[in-house]
Amino acid sequence: MEQSIENKLIKADKTFSEWKKVPFEDKQKLIAKAAEVIKANSEKFGRIITSEMNKPISQSIAEIEKSALMMNYYADAENILKPEKIDSEFGYSEIHYAPKGVILGVMPWNFPFWQVLRFAIPTILAGNTVVLKHASICFGSGNAIEEIFLEAGFPEGVFQNLEVGHKVVKEILEHKTVKGVSLTGSEKAGGEVASIAGLNIKKSLLELGGSDAFLVLDDADLDEAARVGAWARLQNCGQSCIAAKRFIIEEKIEDVFLPKFIEEYKKFVAADPMDKETKLGGMARPDLADELEKQFQKALENGAEIIIPLERISSNEFKPGLIRVKEGNPILQEEFFGPLGMVMVAKNDEEALQMANDIPFGLSNSVWTKDINRQLFFVENLESGTVSVNKMTSSDPRFPFGGTKTSGYGTELSLLALKEFVTAKMIVGN
Ligand code: NDP
Repeated sequence: MEQSIENKLIKADKTFSEWKKVPFEDKQKLIAKAAEVIKANSEKFGRIITSEMNKPISQSIAEIEKSALMMNYYADAENILKPEKIDSEFGYSEIHYAPKGVILGVMPWNFPFWQVLRFAIPTILAGNTVVLKHASICFGSGNAIEEIFLEAGFPEGVFQNLEVGHKVVKEILEHKTVKGVSLTGSEKAGGEVASIAGLNIKKSLLELGGSDAFLVLDDADLDEAARVGAWARLQNCGQSCIAAKRFIIEEKIEDVFLPKFIEEYKKFVAADPMDKETKLGGMARPDLADELEKQFQKALENGAEIIIPLERISSNEFKPGLIRVKEGNPILQEEFFGPLGMVMVAKNDEEALQMANDIPFGLSNSVWTKDINRQLFFVENLESGTVSVNKMTSSDPRFPFGGTKTSGYGTELSLLALKEFVTAKMIVGN
């Protein structure tokens, strides 16, 4: 490892010994200040996002604004890390929550500010310090975030951006100063990083892929489901872990819903991402576009039918595609991380549920029905970290966020995130 990187780890560790003593409320004041800094510069930071990964500028600015909201949520949050008294026969009888130390964040390019801050803010508020290994195309975002922390008045070393490629992650994670890792990204990266963490007995948290179902039952508001469904698939050019990827439609309403959905889908036309009117940009990297084309071909070779063809119009831009897929197609085991959706037709609620669950992932699902009993049936039985009812899935700082099955483990957001990188200490005796 380069000396300059090791120096940053040592600095993060030194800062930790002081930062952990700062009262929770004082940490919250700094977070509130950082929220002000980010909000006041939403256009500037939005431009960094768009220039690095092609997200339409209106969506980049919305990402910054949402990050500020999340920071304000933690700036006002209840301190659930205060010592807790436990009823017992002992004089000392408490649980104390001790931060672990330096935590590494390995973060992706699809929401370059949101993903980093969503992990870093509760981790830092809990008393840890953070080092970031951002996606290689997002070092500008990583540096800008470090600047935000400094401008808000955080001590140097609380948050540092490392500007390293993924080959160095192993050495960083093995370094004695680093006590845990949070990764958002692919299953491949997640599995590799978690195995290094495991071998070194360090805590890991993984937010990985998904292939979320968007279930349209026969009594749903079809106009609203069509409009929201197209956005849920195509915002951020389809590059979101919680995007709707499989549209499971009940047979009875297929003929009415599908034309409405196609009409909404075709409103997404790739254009200049810096133009505020643009709804669809290009994909973040040409190799990711190559991968999506390969998956499209694989789906067709295994029996999928084209509803709207996926058409490549430049190195990273597409006319979005839609395919009809039947159970048994091996493509259902994969995630489409781009502007390509799948439609499946189900005979009834039981079949729709079975199709929704029959994948390796378990991130989130969205179900559309006006009937409360049908809603409850899906809420109880969908295998995912989130179930959204008559709305698309979007993360919300007030609620826990995370997956099950190969979508990962651990909880981000909500008060629960404060307890991810702490040790619950038993304090007992007389
Ligand atoms: P990766 O998972 O490869 O990248 C995410 C982060 O992990 C980056 O910082 C990357 O660094 C790092 N990384 C990659 N491989 C390793 C490794 N072996 N050890 C340690 N760190 C690693 O995603 P890609 O950019 O390649 O995208 C591929 C697919 O991953 C997408 O098509 C999508 O399916 C999924 N993905 C899911 C995301 C989500 O939100 N859940 C976000 C992004 C991608 P570097 O950039 O230096 O390679």
